[in-house]
Amino acid sequence: MNEIILIKNGELALKGLNRKSFEEALVKNIRKAVAPYGDAKIIRAQSTMYVHPMENLDIEDAVDCISKVFGIAALSRAAEVEKDMEAIMPAVCEYLRDELESARTFKVEAKRADKKFPLKSPEICAQTGEYILEHFGNLTVDVHNPDVVVTIEIRDTAAYIHKQPIKGAGGLPVGTGGRACVMISGGIDSPVASWMMAKRGLELSAVNFASPPYTSLRAEEKVKDLLGKVADWSGNIRLHIVPFTEIQEAIRDYCPEDMLTVIMRRYMIKIAQIIARKDGALALISGESVGQVASQTLRALECTDAAADMPVLRPVIGMDKEEIVSIARKIDTFEISILPFEDCCTVFTPKHPKTKPVLEKIIEAEQALENDRVNIAAMIEKAINDTATTIIKPGNIQEELK
Ligand code: ATP
Ligand code: MG
Repeated sequence: MNEIILIKNGELALKGLNRKSFEEALVKNIRKAVAPYGDAKIIRAQSTMYVHPMENLDIEDAVDCISKVFGIAALSRAAEVEKDMEAIMPAVCEYLRDELESARTFKVEAKRADKKFPLKSPEICAQTGEYILEHFGNLTVDVHNPDVVVTIEIRDTAAYIHKQPIKGAGGLPVGTGGRACVMISGGIDSPVASWMMAKRGLELSAVNFASPPYTSLRAEEKVKDLLGKVADWSGNIRLHIVPFTEIQEAIRDYCPEDMLTVIMRRYMIKIAQIIARKDGALALISGESVGQVASQTLRALECTDAAADMPVLRPVIGMDKEEIVSIARKIDTFEISILPFEDCCTVFTPKHPKTKPVLEKIIEAEQALENDRVNIAAMIEKAINDTATTIIKPGNIQEELK
């Protein structure tokens, strides 16, 4: 039996005149998602898409990756059969055997797009219902609250028998909202923040600050592995790893200890947005959550935000750690995030960081650093020049660019 995948668009349907471009983006994203596994023919009809896997594409693999494509409300597998009740009814029993055997009640629904089909929808339902009752002694009909709904769709090309729908990833197709650049650490929060913004239709770039030899290559691998998981949902991510050691050491040596973290974070923002702009990104993304640590009080956020002249999106800002962890588990990043490799934020941390830094004082300290002591501008330029870029693709396929 030939199987296809039916896709119900999500929020897409609401987008009025933009709908066509959203649908086109969705088709493109579905095609890209299945590409590592094989090819598919995709047909659009109203709010449903029909994905026909080619011979080289396994249906389980296709369902698996399509369930991670944003912009889809629900998907289901369906069997394609000849448009003839003599073929349809036995096919229903065969295709839905497991579901029907383990249920107590069912109903049949028919959708008849092909108006030339000789039976009307109620007749299709009645005949199929009777046929099922003859073959499954365990079942009775319940039209209000059935355990199993048998859906039969008669289209111009063929008849389709639907399996029970599964929930799609929701959100909007990646790429329809432009690009943003995530500041990715090896922690739990920033991969979740990345995923949440990709869900809102944003394409992702990423910047990670590394401070070798204080941080190891394993820490960089960890960041790549985390983004590999996110890329299963977001598509390709351009990751830029910025060598941050020299700048961090200058901050450590010349700035007041209790201001180190906030100043370091401000330089991260300044550098990240230069790289973000080069990538065509219009915003930064960070994994901050109010009150989680000293650098995430409102005062500290005021200081970091003031270093930015593009929006900083913080999707987990109001979430508890537990809520963030539950998403991290769902997207399979949690187990990687808890591996114990040093992040540049955890080296040179002050014993008593200021929880209420004052912006003017922070700026004064930075100016002292920039004017008198070290050539920070040159260090920033060098760090950007020495940045290494890798494209992270679904399935954690990595392509080094330089
Ligand atoms: P996470 O779990 O994402 O690491 P966190 O709770 O550990 O977050 P911080 O270490 O204060 O918090 O970092 C806050 C945010 O700053 C991170 O979510 C991330 O967006 C960004 N960030 C932290 N370290 C780095 C880094 N080495 N490179 C790039 N961005 C970073
Ligand atoms: Mg961190």
